[in-house]
Amino acid sequence: MPAPTFVWFRRDLRLADNLALEAAVRAGGPTIPLYVLDETPDLRAPGAASLWWLDKTLAALAADLEAIGSRLILRRGLAADIVTQLARETAAGAVVWNAVFDPGYPARDKALAQTLKGAGVEPRRVNGGPLVNLDEVKTKAGGPFSVFTPFWRAARQMVSDAWPTPAPTSLLAPKAWPVSDTLADWRLNPATPDWSQGFGDWQPGETGAHKALEAFADQGLRTYSADRDRPAVEGTSRLSPHLHFGEISPKACWRAAQAASHHGKATDRETEKFLAELGWREFNAAIAGRADLAKTNFDRRFDAFPWRDDSKGLKAWRRGATGYPIVDAGMRQLWSTGWMHNRVRMITASFLTKHLLIDWRLGEQWFWDTLVDADHASNAGNWQWVAGSGADASPYFRIFNPMLQSEKFDPPGDYIRRWVPELARLPAKVIHAPWTAEGPVLARSGVRLGDNYPRPIVEHGLARQRALDAYSQMRSFGSGAARPAFNENLPRPIGSGR
Ligand code: FAD
Repeated sequence: MPAPTFVWFRRDLRLADNLALEAAVRAGGPTIPLYVLDETPDLRAPGAASLWWLDKTLAALAADLEAIGSRLILRRGLAADIVTQLARETAAGAVVWNAVFDPGYPARDKALAQTLKGAGVEPRRVNGGPLVNLDEVKTKAGGPFSVFTPFWRAARQMVSDAWPTPAPTSLLAPKAWPVSDTLADWRLNPATPDWSQGFGDWQPGETGAHKALEAFADQGLRTYSADRDRPAVEGTSRLSPHLHFGEISPKACWRAAQAASHHGKATDRETEKFLAELGWREFNAAIAGRADLAKTNFDRRFDAFPWRDDSKGLKAWRRGATGYPIVDAGMRQLWSTGWMHNRVRMITASFLTKHLLIDWRLGEQWFWDTLVDADHASNAGNWQWVAGSGADASPYFRIFNPMLQSEKFDPPGDYIRRWVPELARLPAKVIHAPWTAEGPVLARSGVRLGDNYPRPIVEHGLARQRALDAYSQMRSFGSGAARPAFNENLPRPIGSGR
């Protein structure tokens, strides 16, 4: 009987369409599924909301493995040491894993591969994460793309036509299973206080991911391009945490959208829009492979940007107490549910970086800690996109007007009413800017500005001008002038204790 093969699950917590698992099954011997809660210091630790999700998705993966005669071995610590030790202990023939490209992973995995080889164990890294092999998406000159449209034009052609492979129906068990931690030992759930009570709508795990995809392909896709920008409507797929944890492959999403279009459930236009969003996910992953985007401006001119130290402003933003209803609604949705609508992510990120002139890294870190879909490439990439420092970024001088955004994308104010209940009784005409309401209107609606709802912490016109001035100041440094170094000692936002 061939020696056992370890499948080291990481960001691919699924059984279907999983290249690493397929490779292990093909090896013909027993398969030992492993997940390590990785505490390697150089790797970015997951935020608190991600840990909440991880707890549930690992439980789901373990149950799915048990249903096909297998188990999930759980260990916590330095992954490279644990993998090597387990492989030795079980006389494994190989360890297979899907590549992760976040900072620190490629180098660590390369070193681990050497160690395994030295121990007589075959390391096999496969690339089952993205839709396409990102290393192969090149400009005509052979370099990487920095602009989305040509990137996507090139990448789109490379998406394989193959159908996602189904989950195996059984896995050969080893003679003896290695010892495993229990999930409960890891205490990934918040206890006191339990801030996850509003996180209930999600179904983490592969089954939940496929249900979300089916519902979206069946109902949501047909109106995607219009509804995706309306935060009060469930107009998007909500697949982001499922995709981040790899409970479903992007290829499965791609295929389902195409099949829906083929069966007349959505027009080509709607389908293309959705596929392009999957394309942005690929683009961010490709850009993130080039620099540590959560630390470093992609556009290094922004190293000279005069960010403000404003702990009061940062606190008000995090709490959803800026006095701008759409911003506050978004920040409260994030806190309550672990997710925020994309349009509102853009508005809140713009408000932090432009109205408050607070370094995007502080916003990125807060999202990292509070989003259930926190994803290194997509989070940092989008923060930089909004801040103006990213690849193919929105120009810095394009400053969102929160009131106009709110009027345009939430005209009746339903999203605001849901997340900022103290404003719920205001008429739609003034709900986007309560400070413009007449005294009697405010009184009738139970709104007391500065008491039960804050006045704006900054005036829009002044903030806009200040942001434009800051941008000019940065540009005036010019390409050859000395630039002030970025202050690495920025105060860190509340950590994973939330
Ligand atoms: P849908 O509209 O249904 O899109 C389908 C899928 O496409 C998403 O699940 C996601 O995987 C991908 N996608 C959509 N928009 C984008 C985008 N702009 N960039 C990259 N991928 C995209 N997305 C994350 O997955 N993790 C993050 O940490 C994250 N942080 C963000 C921070 C900011 C400041 C902004 C502006 C956006 C961020 N996004 C992030 C992108 C986007 O907001 C979410 O992917 C989207 O809201 C998820 O909802 P959905 O699954 O219903 O999206």
